[in-house]
Amino acid sequence: MYGHQSVRQLPDAYPQFFSRAEGCRLWDADGNEYVDLMCAYGPMLLGYRHPKVEAAAAEQAGRADTLTGPSEIMVQLAERFVGVIDAAAWALFCKNGTDATSAALAIARAATGRRKVLVAEGTYHGAAPWCTPFDTGIVEEARAHLVPFEYGDLESLEEAARRAGDDLAGVIVSPFKHDAVTDQTEPDPGFARGVRALCDEREAFLILDEVRAGFRLAFGGSWTAFGVEPDLAAWGKCLANGHALSALTGNERGRKAAQRVFLTGSFWFQAIPMAAALATLDELERQPPVPHLETLGRRLRAGWAAQAEEHGLAIRQTGPVQMPLLLFDDDAKLEKGYRWAAEAVERGAYVHAWHNMFLSAAHTEADVDRVLEATRPAFAAVAEQGARG
Ligand code: PMP
Repeated sequence: MYGHQSVRQLPDAYPQFFSRAEGCRLWDADGNEYVDLMCAYGPMLLGYRHPKVEAAAAEQAGRADTLTGPSEIMVQLAERFVGVIDAAAWALFCKNGTDATSAALAIARAATGRRKVLVAEGTYHGAAPWCTPFDTGIVEEARAHLVPFEYGDLESLEEAARRAGDDLAGVIVSPFKHDAVTDQTEPDPGFARGVRALCDEREAFLILDEVRAGFRLAFGGSWTAFGVEPDLAAWGKCLANGHALSALTGNERGRKAAQRVFLTGSFWFQAIPMAAALATLDELERQPPVPHLETLGRRLRAGWAAQAEEHGLAIRQTGPVQMPLLLFDDDAKLEKGYRWAAEAVERGAYVHAWHNMFLSAAHTEADVDRVLEATRPAFAAVAEQGARG
């Protein structure tokens, strides 16, 4: 089983296989039902099997999907997407987030004629040789021109840029620090502006990896509210509400290079996910989900804080509330986290012990309360385990 979606490292309570989903509910292969707080690790933003998205996909399925070339729906989607994304003058579509982040590096390098890319240590940008978090089967040359820096630390970014010298092609960065197993940060306007200024000074590309956070913080771009526009932005996960589609958008600086870099895949032109994406964008615009996600996120965070306190447990909840992460203090081996998560999963709340979770437009306050019902005994179990030592 693959990568972070493998349950190999998770407690036995976690099912590996699922057979059905609807709204925010998930059924495993044994028929157990869960309120899902992972949303397929992000793609599901409007809810599983959203009626309008699925109707658009079904209608397109009646016409065509994979063809000898793209369908005209690709042009419609590109125009629509560029209209939605503040910094975008063009868009190209691919399948996975990794396709988009990898394409971004190639375009930045092609456009600048330089090689070095600054990458925050510990940030996940996908599973290609240049970015996979584990190096089994990877030759070190694949990462030869990456220079690490510490997320959120402009001095460390400057130092990395000095090391890259006049060979700096770009900086790739996520909208906030959402690395696994560590506390998340809030989106930081000072850092965002600092990255932009550094890229401007050195004529390097600012690449924003929106694959995980995109649309969950804001509609047009996660750093737009700070007045910061990236040169390239990678999108994936919830772009087509669960259908396989990712995208790279860019401003005029990258257009020519994007035309020159050889980018393609047998299934990149699939029309069904593009129809699903158009319907997803319509729905996100018709009913912006962020306020709802924040309301639910605050309710969940307050509930978990109260339950932890009730049981005398010290926890940290970090990052934007709509992408919850809960870590226990003094839990380097995640013994408390895993116990808590296993107890909750057994009671029908699919939570995670070290990866940020995701709320969706399909969750309701009642669903959050259902999760809280499952986690109260989970906190009690952790407290009891601690008391027994
Ligand atoms: N970037 C970020 C920030 C991600 O969270 C992910 C997926 N977890 C990726 C890139 C890679 O996306 P994919 O798994 O679709 O290749």
